[in-house]
Amino acid sequence: MSPPRATFYAHQTLNLHARYGLSDNAKKLLRAHDHWRTGSMEQVQLGRLVRMSPDMRKSITDTITKCAEIMRKKPAEVKNCIDIIQACTEILDAADKPPDLEGFPFLKLPPELRQNVYQWYAAKIIAPTLVAYPAEPNCDCGKWTPPNTSYPPALHRVDMALGRACKQIKNEYLEFLYHKFTLYFDCSCELNKRLRSNAALRSNIRSVKVHWTGPVSDKAFARLAKCQELRHLDIVISKSTTSFETPREREMRRFFHSLKPARLADALGIDELFTIRGLNSVCVSHVNGRQSVKRTDEERANLQGLLKSKLGLLGLD
Ligand SMILES: [Zn+2]
Repeated sequence: MSPPRATFYAHQTLNLHARYGLSDNAKKLLRAHDHWRTGSMEQVQLGRLVRMSPDMRKSITDTITKCAEIMRKKPAEVKNCIDIIQACTEILDAADKPPDLEGFPFLKLPPELRQNVYQWYAAKIIAPTLVAYPAEPNCDCGKWTPPNTSYPPALHRVDMALGRACKQIKNEYLEFLYHKFTLYFDCSCELNKRLRSNAALRSNIRSVKVHWTGPVSDKAFARLAKCQELRHLDIVISKSTTSFETPREREMRRFFHSLKPARLADALGIDELFTIRGLNSVCVSHVNGRQSVKRTDEERANLQGLLKSKLGLLGLD
């Protein structure tokens, strides 16, 4: 853009518009052109003003014609006429510019408003717990897929169309989901893999329900202990929870040859569970499945008491 020429207001002090017989519409557009040149108006707004009616466009072509006539008759007015004609051509350029097809500038909204939109968008998700698509579909750790059957719906597909809009919106929407919903993981392997590969999940995850089973439960819970936003933890237990033991218990069994089944307190990952801090609540649930794969109610209650004590949650209920 060339440097601003004499402005509408400078011409007004010369009484130019009256002397040239410019119409009200022409003056309105020349004033708007000044605002565009000084940055207080977008070019699309200027173009929209011209397109409001055929009279607006005609006022500009009439102004060009008048200025050309004045230039021919009064050479002293050439400079001012050229200024006005240039303004008129820029106004017509703005009007003829193809309309902005980029749509609503969603990312220019303040972050709080975007969060409101995500909230509204996610309002149709009626399940309180979301189940991640398995990242470890073939792991053989005794996992038990359905998180619940008593609370409908057990599984819920989340509409992720918004997540395909662009990278920033996708990231923001995922962070919102991680923060708002309880996420269920089939096994510790699943939890470990997700936390290892997803920084946004690590930074935003707030409520986790996980079936405690698998050979990397210690690693998974150690990663969970580093999640600063984690506030609620639901540990799901089953017979397979004790299929893998802590290194200490494994070593003891080499020498003491105990035939007793391993205790929950000796399951792999228990020490790492004890390092989790900052929770508002913790609970222990039975796995959803046949009675034969479940542990006893006493074990469930004992582990819940142990975790509340070790995680500093006694007296918070
Ligand atoms: Zn697994």
